[in-house]
Amino acid sequence: MNDYIIRAIAANDQIRAFAAVTTETVETARQDHNTSPVATAALGRLLTAGAMMGVMMKGDKDILTLQIKAGGPLEGITVTADSRGRVKGYVGNPDVCIPANSKGKLDVAGAVGVGFMNVIKDMGLKEPYVGQVVLQTSEIAEDLTYYFATSEQVPSAVGLGVLMNKDNTVRQAGGFIVQLMPFAEESTISRLEENIKKINSVTDLLEEGHTPESLLEKVLDGFDMEINDKIPTEFYCNCSRERVERALISIGRKELNEMIQEGKPIEMNCHFCNKNYEFSVEELKEILRKCK
Ligand SMILES: [Zn+2]
Repeated sequence: MNDYIIRAIAANDQIRAFAAVTTETVETARQDHNTSPVATAALGRLLTAGAMMGVMMKGDKDILTLQIKAGGPLEGITVTADSRGRVKGYVGNPDVCIPANSKGKLDVAGAVGVGFMNVIKDMGLKEPYVGQVVLQTSEIAEDLTYYFATSEQVPSAVGLGVLMNKDNTVRQAGGFIVQLMPFAEESTISRLEENIKKINSVTDLLEEGHTPESLLEKVLDGFDMEINDKIPTEFYCNCSRERVERALISIGRKELNEMIQEGKPIEMNCHFCNKNYEFSVEELKEILRKCK
């Protein structure tokens, strides 16, 4: 497991920053969902952001969900992360194949299309926090920058990148989120802006051998930076046969009876990791007996 996230502060706490390398995480997602290159890139960017935003949450049981609902051929993306670096996600249509964009790159914006993004934070309260923004470019990083500015009132810079190998496996994935605290001074802001301008592509930097640590050193060039935390991150789905069984119990006797009447085994699919769980008619009858 080589993927991890670092959390840092800089300029006397005026800046907080996160950076991550997520190559294995995104490659696991690609294998689980058999995603096309552009679908892998889009999902990978959102997974990388989700992993970092997950560890921003304070509670052990807090859950973050990022939902992109848009009209492009990708048919949306959903990512869920916990506060311990575990992240999972899927796209509506993993087979999307569209021509490269004008820069010759995978056309993530074209695949995502026009729409909006929901940021849902379940922090164990009665109601989850929900922030919604209209997608600005559908390239995902800019959309998250816009979300942070408008919904959370935190000026931020977000960089995300996924680079594929020729055989369509994931070569590099990672990103950063840098945020200005309300008391940030003008000089801090302008220096940070200058630094960000110099960064063209996260994947280029990863290709050059940059780590999350050295990536942040580049973004925060000229500031004193203190790394507070290094958190392993991975694509992790918590589904299990028991959970699927509990879901089947919860749908009720009537529906279960109908399934049994069909006389055929049923297959339940986990959207997040694409794992299939098969239940025979005998097993369904067993579940029906547990059903009140
Ligand atoms: Zn699963």
